Amino acid sequence: MSTFKAPKGTYDLLPPDSAAYLAVREAIAAPLRNSGYGYIETPGFENVELFARGVGESTDIVTKEMYAFETKGGDRLALRPEGTASVLRAALEANLHKAGNLPVKLWYSGSYYRYERPQKGRYRHFSQVGAEAIGAEDPAIDAELIILADQSYRSLGLKDFRILLNSLGDSECRPVYRAALQDFLRGLDLDEDTRRRIDINPLRVLDDKRPQVQEQLTGVPLLRDYLCDACKAYHEQVRELITAAGVRYEDDPKLVRGLDYYTRTTFEFVHDGLGSQSAVGGGGRYDGLSEMIGGPALPSVGWALGVDRTVLALEAEGVRLDLPSTTSVFAVPLGDEARRVLFAKITELRRKGIAADFAFGGRGLKGAMKSANRSGARYTLVAGERDLADGVAQLKDMESGEQRPVALDTVVAELTRLLG
Ligand code: ATP
Ligand code: MG
Repeated sequence: MSTFKAPKGTYDLLPPDSAAYLAVREAIAAPLRNSGYGYIETPGFENVELFARGVGESTDIVTKEMYAFETKGGDRLALRPEGTASVLRAALEANLHKAGNLPVKLWYSGSYYRYERPQKGRYRHFSQVGAEAIGAEDPAIDAELIILADQSYRSLGLKDFRILLNSLGDSECRPVYRAALQDFLRGLDLDEDTRRRIDINPLRVLDDKRPQVQEQLTGVPLLRDYLCDACKAYHEQVRELITAAGVRYEDDPKLVRGLDYYTRTTFEFVHDGLGSQSAVGGGGRYDGLSEMIGGPALPSVGWALGVDRTVLALEAEGVRLDLPSTTSVFAVPLGDEARRVLFAKITELRRKGIAADFAFGGRGLKGAMKSANRSGARYTLVAGERDLADGVAQLKDMESGEQRPVALDTVVAELTRLLG
């Protein structure tokens, strides 16, 4: 152990467990790549003002959770707490919305940072895979994203997740609702902080997890009773499309993302095996965000799925991913000459695309065979001086335990054949 430990709220991804993380990322990315989404990567930090505007001044993320700092050059930056604002900033900066057909469909994968109280499933550094469809208002694109997330979770073998769905209305119907909600909330017995929230961000109060708040919310006006005809029709189409795709969801009239540029479709993916950190992903429509960060009107929709919590969800359901062993062939040389010969064979195998590894460090047979076992290799190649004199190496099938000599000049071809 060194003097140092991973910073509070962070953890290291180590083999073999790290393989599950890669598999989760890949399972989320694959359906996106297959559906016209192009990969985007943006910097790990941005101008702090982008997040203040693009996530919202009144959000917990901006007021409490952001790693903001000043550089030596005097720039005010922040480690990115989420992906959407950066992706939209990058798309606008590169004029992607002018280059071709809309929507611009992008996916991303990376690290995000929030100064939160660390708990299981809540970290200060975590991973998300996200998708954004920029510049189109079409219920089919909202439906597409929900269907693709469902497909990702299912491809991993997850079953105990639920999709919660709601509509937040638009600039026509939401202000009317907002006022009605504020009226109702002002009549309740709430603490100072929550009272302040009624003025700035009343929808967020619906999301308050405290029982003493939830109890008072019986009879609270719900947005679904205030939706204008256009929003109602839009939402109905989203529901029809995902239902037709066989994706099950639950209407959750209290589900919110309490910012003004979030509009219409809102959804969250929750997993029932995760305790209080139950959200494995979330997203929705953000028709007003582009204008909030100085761009043109670009109605858009997206989601971000948490990789860490998805891995925890797999553990909670006891799903064992079928991860192929990383090494197919492991070479164990006995002696200097064998080392030279087998190292060359391993290089040749690797160049043919066969996953191969080698007993480094000149250990004895016993230790090297332990490494071979641990590697999960299907075949082990062992050679000592006598084998070399005979022009062979011993090929051991690690499943059956059988061992036979194979001519050195055909061993690569033989292994290629065996591994098909
Ligand atoms: P929560 O309500 O749990 O704080 P959130 O609404 O802040 O979640 P989003 O901003 O919607 O989360 O991020 C999308 C996903 O990213 C979440 O559903 C979750 O899986 C993951 N996520 C968010 N914050 C963290 C965190 N601190 N640690 C691990 N995963 C996180
Ligand atoms: Mg949060």
